Amino acid sequence: AKSAGRNQIAFFEGNMQTEVEHRLTLERDLTKALELNELQMVMQAQVNDAGVAVGAELLMRWHHKGRGMVSPAVFIPLAEESGLIVKMGDWVLQEACRILKQLQSAGHYFSLSINVSPKQFRQKDFVDKVTATLATQGVDGNYLIFEVTEGLFIDNLQETIARMSKLSDLGIRFSIDDFGTGYSSLNYLKRLPLYELKIDKSFVQDIPGDANDTAIVGSILSMARQFGLKVVAEGVETVEQANYLIANDCDSMQGFLYSRPIAPELWISQHAQEQTA
Ligand code: C2E
Ligand code: CA
Ligand code: CA
Ligand code: CA
Repeated sequence: AKSAGRNQIAFFEGNMQTEVEHRLTLERDLTKALELNELQMVMQAQVNDAGVAVGAELLMRWHHKGRGMVSPAVFIPLAEESGLIVKMGDWVLQEACRILKQLQSAGHYFSLSINVSPKQFRQKDFVDKVTATLATQGVDGNYLIFEVTEGLFIDNLQETIARMSKLSDLGIRFSIDDFGTGYSSLNYLKRLPLYELKIDKSFVQDIPGDANDTAIVGSILSMARQFGLKVVAEGVETVEQANYLIANDCDSMQGFLYSRPIAPELWISQHAQEQTA
């Protein structure tokens, strides 16, 4: 039993070592991913109760030359810890502008949501960067929504609000991503220049069967209404979930039920002849 235990420890340590090596290799590769054109933005539509696209979220994909697809659940945290997310975030904004123009020339005038990480948001020159990118790309900020998480509001709330206001002046709107999963001091809701709450898929998954989750989703919807905020539900996979959300006046739905995240070019070709607003 004792030697088996020792073997187990040795095995475990060996595993941890490869995991650390693996992480370092991935991090090094991620540094080069941008130049190697391994990163790509895919788009997932957000639809209204009639199933019409009223917006879309852009999500990052990493096609590693040797390893194939690496999950965002793996490389986004890595990018955040290493600080690489700042450079990647700059690129995401540029891509968003490019895709927006592509959509508009195909007749689709809806907003694109991008994920903005706290590190990216907290750069001193973030507002200047965004201003410059919009100007260079000739894009109207009214077509951009920044998804931020509750973590952004933990400290320096005053400064965060000031920065959000400056970005709002450019037309940019704010959505709270993964709403309800973080440090929900609801106190900040009334102080922030917000447009939308985004219900996390963990709450959507088991509605309407699970009474607790259904109560949470219902509360978010009624609270948003009272604050004058829009609500988008993510991770909508079933007709039952969609029906519950629609019956409770959820503004838009995003999930596999409607569409997987796909290349914008593909979405455009699938929606040729349609005009969406
Ligand atoms: P998120 O912002 O909460 O994005 C929603 C995730 O749910 C996405 O995972 C999306 O592909 C997935 N999803 C969409 N519909 C469904 C559904 O019906 N069922 C299920 N089970 N999942 C669904 P993804 O693309 O793997 O991204 C994971 C996370 O990585 C994102 O979570 C976001 O936090 C982060 N991320 C992705 N792209 C970016 C980016 O460009 N910048 C930053 N900072 N973070 C990003
Ligand atoms: Ca998001
Ligand atoms: Ca989420
Ligand atoms: Ca998120």
